[in-house]
Amino acid sequence: MAIGMFGGTFDPVHMGHLRVAEEVREAYSMEKVYFVPARVQPFKQSGRGATAEERVRMLEMATRGNSFFRTSPVEIRRGGVSYSIDTVKHFARRFGDIYFVMGMDAFSDIGLWKAYRELFLYADFVVMVRPGIRPSGLPTGLSTETRQLDASTFEHASGKKIYFHHITQLDISSTRIRELARMGKSIKYLVPHPVERYIIKKGLYRN
Ligand code: ATP
Ligand code: MG
Repeated sequence: MAIGMFGGTFDPVHMGHLRVAEEVREAYSMEKVYFVPARVQPFKQSGRGATAEERVRMLEMATRGNSFFRTSPVEIRRGGVSYSIDTVKHFARRFGDIYFVMGMDAFSDIGLWKAYRELFLYADFVVMVRPGIRPSGLPTGLSTETRQLDASTFEHASGKKIYFHHITQLDISSTRIRELARMGKSIKYLVPHPVERYIIKKGLYRN
């Protein structure tokens, strides 16, 4: 059994995140999925953005109802900018086998990340692909050290795999939720109920 590591800003966490985490958890028989909110929150245009503590709090509320889900404040606690390589090493030390779960939007930029080639020594990758989209393939820098096993699977020289996995992409984004909240509009059914109540009670994203 392995655990999944799912990073993001989660400002706020929403049903799209929860649903895909559940799908990959089931497909890869993960023992747990850890949601890992990033510490540095690139300031977003609409509304003021929640603090790191508020994002963690919302994730805790959202993940409480699923015994496979956990929230990890590791990037929030670590000072400075979060680098995935540090987080991946942290989880690999703690759990051994890990899946690094991310959307294809994130994966297509991976060639720009700090020490990105090292990531493939520590984790299998599950790259979530939206319906109707063809997997992008790998960053060019990786082509000499990986081989393709089938239409959606690659193997790194380390033995770690990269899986392109089709998921149900609900058409929900945190950006849209912040906009709705800013305008005082309903966010019901886009986020779990306790998260909705928390956003309203604290007046999050309302400038
Ligand atoms: P924002 O609108 O602020 O960019 P977001 O909704 O994209 O927020 P992030 O925290 O940026 O949320 O996303 C974290 C991860 O979740 C990314 O890898 C992204 O691909 C994935 N993701 C975001 N929204 C969805 C969705 N509706 N369905 C599936 N995956 C999603
Ligand atoms: Mg995003």
